[in-house]
Amino acid sequence: MLRFVSMLLLCVVAGRSLAATSPGQAEAFDRLAGQLERGEIAPDTHAGMLKVLEQIKSLVPPGDARRELRYRYMFCILGLDAPPAQGIAYADQGLADARRLGYVGAEVNFHFCRGTNQEALTTPRDALADYDAGIALARSHEDPRLVADGLTWRGSVQSLLGEHALALVDFLEAQKFYETSGAPIESEQNLFNIAVAYRRLGEAAQARDYLRRLLFLGEQRHDRQQQLSAHMQLGFLDSEMGEQVSAESHLHKALALAKAVGSRSQGASIHLGLAQVDNLQGRYHQALDELALAQPGFERMGDRSSRDMVLLQTAKAHAGLGQHDLALVEYGQSEQLLQQSGNLRYLAELLDARARSYQALNRLAPEVVDLRRLVKVREALDRKAHSDNATLMSYQFQTAQREQENRRLAADRALKEQQLKSLERVRHWQRVALVLGGVLILMLLWLALRQFRRSRKLHRMAMTDPLTGIANRRHIEELARRALAHAGAHGESLCVLVLDVDHFKMVNDAFGHAVGDQVLVRVAQACKQALRRFDMLGRMGGEEFLIVLPDTSLEVALQIAERLRRKVESLPLANLAPGLEITASVGAAEADHEADDLPELIRRADTAMYRAKDAGRNRVEMMTVRAPAV
Ligand code: GH3
Ligand code: MG
Ligand code: MG
Repeated sequence: MLRFVSMLLLCVVAGRSLAATSPGQAEAFDRLAGQLERGEIAPDTHAGMLKVLEQIKSLVPPGDARRELRYRYMFCILGLDAPPAQGIAYADQGLADARRLGYVGAEVNFHFCRGTNQEALTTPRDALADYDAGIALARSHEDPRLVADGLTWRGSVQSLLGEHALALVDFLEAQKFYETSGAPIESEQNLFNIAVAYRRLGEAAQARDYLRRLLFLGEQRHDRQQQLSAHMQLGFLDSEMGEQVSAESHLHKALALAKAVGSRSQGASIHLGLAQVDNLQGRYHQALDELALAQPGFERMGDRSSRDMVLLQTAKAHAGLGQHDLALVEYGQSEQLLQQSGNLRYLAELLDARARSYQALNRLAPEVVDLRRLVKVREALDRKAHSDNATLMSYQFQTAQREQENRRLAADRALKEQQLKSLERVRHWQRVALVLGGVLILMLLWLALRQFRRSRKLHRMAMTDPLTGIANRRHIEELARRALAHAGAHGESLCVLVLDVDHFKMVNDAFGHAVGDQVLVRVAQACKQALRRFDMLGRMGGEEFLIVLPDTSLEVALQIAERLRRKVESLPLANLAPGLEITASVGAAEADHEADDLPELIRRADTAMYRAKDAGRNRVEMMTVRAPAV
């Protein structure tokens, strides 16, 4: 859906109808253009490159302005073989169209293309503005790949300008991106730039390492263009290091490859290099021959950037042949160009050589002038070497610092993660401990509760008569003792009743023990209901009950006893056994605080109860005074 919408938008931008769109063609275009841009397709001849570009052009969907523009910037950089002024016009048109379409990628690339043409038209220094503009635009759009491309373009110019340290910094910076962003081809091409920058900084060993590696890779891949470049650079390097034989061998290999791939501009550079080697070897005629071969190559390319060198080598060859006057004219022309491009290294070479010609012509004054200038230029070169060193060292320092900072940040991050993890672990165990602690506490609580209930039950069992559920003998005696002590202490009256079921043996005998048990339960219940809240009831054993009546006069006790008696008498027991009826005899006694202890009090109530039995049962009897001791 999104794709459809973006396609529709593209069509609107391109001002054409949807019906004419051919997605297959657009995809084929993108695929091929991408392959060429990423270097996956790398024709090693200009004709081959033009063929691929032609194919890409044929795939531009009709009216697709963006793809048409993409083709144009690729053609501008990779295919255009026209005088530099025309190239600049082509790039300017592209820039205008890219801005109109808001196509930043194309705009950046047209800046780069303009730069390459500007380098050839005037001097490389003038191209810096183009590359800077491209890099700034790419940076503002956060396109690191285009930034890296721009850095390599600009680095190349810095290199040509003798700013080798700045160049190296650009290349190394670009390399970082290429290597980390998985751009192996660009990465390898950029290694070339790094190698050349090292060569020009005089770091021969570094340069040679890179170049040999690139040559090896080029041979493995059968990439003639790469082998050509490697041989050419190794030739220049060896020549600079004074190894002319090896230099010549590399340059000849490079020349053969340049012819094979049809690269005229590189062919011209190689002839120039060979001329330099010849001059250094004293083969001046051969040098002139090489220069003659180089010149048309440069001229056909409209490349004026090498004319200073061509003139310098031509002058040196003529000087070598003793044609000093001619040489002086050529030195003069070369000097003008070298001063424009500000190449101090070649200027020093020129001044040194020209001073020799003046010496040969016995023109001491200009010789002295050149030699003095030579001293100054060499001083400037020394200063340059120092500043290059400083540039490199500061770059290395910054890089190291940045890496250190990155390492520190990474370590910090790792530490924080570790701390977080251990904190998480601690929290986990804390939670586990909390839960376990909670469970333990609950278990302990439960155990304690169970224990409490058990002991309460045991206690209750120890105090309760299991059949009737009221206090057993031990308990009722204990209650009675306390009540008696309390009454004694407070001067209150207290009575006890002893209630005994009449002829209970007969109930058992007539209705069975189970019915007897039930009768006892009913009697206990009935008594409980008939008593006041603070009265106490207990079973003394068998069918005999003890009732304690605190704060109660004998009069009231007799009323209560009578109430109990009646209650028992009227107990409805027919549902237990038809015709079952019972009665009880009750004995009452009031405590005499002066003389009574509990057994004595109970004994008196018991005596009263037996008196009731004797008097015919189902009645209440009392003991007011202690039975006189016999
Ligand atoms: P009295 O009117 O003189 O008190 O005559 P009694 O039959 O009630 O007295 P006695 O002491 O001769 O008999 C008490 C009977 O109570 C004897 C015993 O079998 C019975 N008994 C004692 N405890 C229980 C009991 O827990 N359940 C039952 N069913 N009978 C019991
Ligand atoms: Mg009895
Ligand atoms: Mg009895």
